[in-house]
Amino acid sequence: MDMKNAVKELAMRCGACSVGFTIAEEVSAGAHELYMRFISDGKHGAMGYLANHAEIRRDPRKLLETADAKSLIVCAFPYFTPDPEVSTDARFATYARGSDYHIVLRERLAPVTGFLEEHGHAVRVCIDSAPLRERYWAVQAGVGFIGVNSQLIVPGVGSYVFLATIVTDAVFEPDEPCSLGCGECGRCVERCPGGAIGADGSFDARRCLSYLTIEYRGGSLPDDLQLGGCVYGCDQCQQCCPHNRKAEVTGIMEFMPRDSIAGLTRKRILEMTRPEFAGIFAGSAVKRVRLEGLKRNARHR
Ligand code: SF4
Ligand code: SF4
Repeated sequence: MDMKNAVKELAMRCGACSVGFTIAEEVSAGAHELYMRFISDGKHGAMGYLANHAEIRRDPRKLLETADAKSLIVCAFPYFTPDPEVSTDARFATYARGSDYHIVLRERLAPVTGFLEEHGHAVRVCIDSAPLRERYWAVQAGVGFIGVNSQLIVPGVGSYVFLATIVTDAVFEPDEPCSLGCGECGRCVERCPGGAIGADGSFDARRCLSYLTIEYRGGSLPDDLQLGGCVYGCDQCQQCCPHNRKAEVTGIMEFMPRDSIAGLTRKRILEMTRPEFAGIFAGSAVKRVRLEGLKRNARHR
């Protein structure tokens, strides 16, 4: 088996549902310009880190310091699980009910990175942890397309996927970029409770419930904002997407909902102590919002 197929097979055995390869090079001028406009318009809100390292974000080769990066290997991992059966008034985004994907995917990809290293190659794994245009590269690598809701949609799988990208100096035959798109659907534009999605696929993070409940640290939330039960994230633009109609439950056990999270109520959150928060959310992405942030969201209607 050649190196490319060996890497692909290993990644699929690690739980990936789609794996693609592309050349490490600058992003297209158009894509770079769009991103810079998003930043200069202030649509990234308080996520100041998105404005940093513009040159690295433009050229992923700069991410590999020890060697000349030649390829990006993009892996999509499914995380869909159905809503918990327990009735609760506190909703966590689907991706946040299990273990932290940053940790899980790095561990799961160890056989792939180990294999590349054994063959003398440098690697850097990026899982939402580096200034890398992950969805752009997923399209270039043929893994999927970016929907109007800004999510990466893997044909036949949907958008409940995490992306992990390996930057490496190994050379691979690139895959064909994905040329699919949303067409005339527009369901997510209508459904978005904050009006964050433009019909042209533009996105204003400042109006997004995910941003407001997770990233926004500006004290209380706007009075006129309706969270509709969300205390951490919002899945509405994924729930309404026809590409997710047949989403299959993930086979990655680490992403299955933890009872300790799925069963939480607002009252329980508001009574939660610091040690309890640390225990319940150990190894969970929810830790990002801190106890104060979670209580702020639980207080808001
Ligand atoms: S996560 Fe919710 S608020 Fe944010 S864009 Fe999607 S539907 Fe809109
Ligand atoms: S809901 Fe429709 S328009 Fe929105 S991402 Fe899905 S297919 Fe595209």
